[in-house]
Amino acid sequence: MIVQRNEDELLALSGLQHLAFCERQWALIHLEGLWVDNKLTMEGRILHERVHNPFFDESRDQLVITRSVPLVSHKLGVFGIADVIEFQPTLDSAKGVKISGKGGLWQPTPVEYKRGNPKPDDRDMVQLCAQAICLEEMLDITVDLGYIYYWRPRRRQKIAIDDDLRQRVYKLSGRMHSLFREGRTPPAQSGVNCRLCSFVDYCLPKLTKQNKSTKDYFRQNIEIKSPFA
Ligand code: SF4
Repeated sequence: MIVQRNEDELLALSGLQHLAFCERQWALIHLEGLWVDNKLTMEGRILHERVHNPFFDESRDQLVITRSVPLVSHKLGVFGIADVIEFQPTLDSAKGVKISGKGGLWQPTPVEYKRGNPKPDDRDMVQLCAQAICLEEMLDITVDLGYIYYWRPRRRQKIAIDDDLRQRVYKLSGRMHSLFREGRTPPAQSGVNCRLCSFVDYCLPKLTKQNKSTKDYFRQNIEIKSPFA
């Protein structure tokens, strides 16, 4: 069942990709307010700063590109910003919208920019699909396609916004809202993702498996100044 959430309940759309990677990572960022940069996240931030430069909006005959587009979905209960939305001409009224100063209908397609290579999991696709659902709700159209641009191979990957991916996103958003209501950091489940995670030194997955938040672990076990002091 899809729940319509009001303004006060909206959570960050970016949380869906964190949750898809690891529930504990989501909680460390979105409940405990922890952020840890490493080389990978720094590169990602630089890339997004470039992409989000509003002076690079473009308009050509067959393509309009807008950057840093605010998004919201009350069905998912999320808000965020899309890196890039590309608009191309369409004759399909179910997929197109009008653009001021342009004739005809234009079909919006979200493009998400990511550093590095395609991931072994679906977190990037989850984020893209959530953006597509936001656009559908805001513009009352259907968005069945998006792209993820990977910086390292400098290639973009076409992603179908299909039913399976949509179901995954709705399930994750439901879980995210329920974890937020509980306000509890899930226990670490040390595994393959921990090796790729910039939080591993603060999360301490092997030591904090017993359902402890990192704050509680530091308070109870370590006599040194914690990063949360
Ligand atoms: S170190 Fe492992 S358990 Fe901890 S947040 Fe990262 S992926 Fe999750």
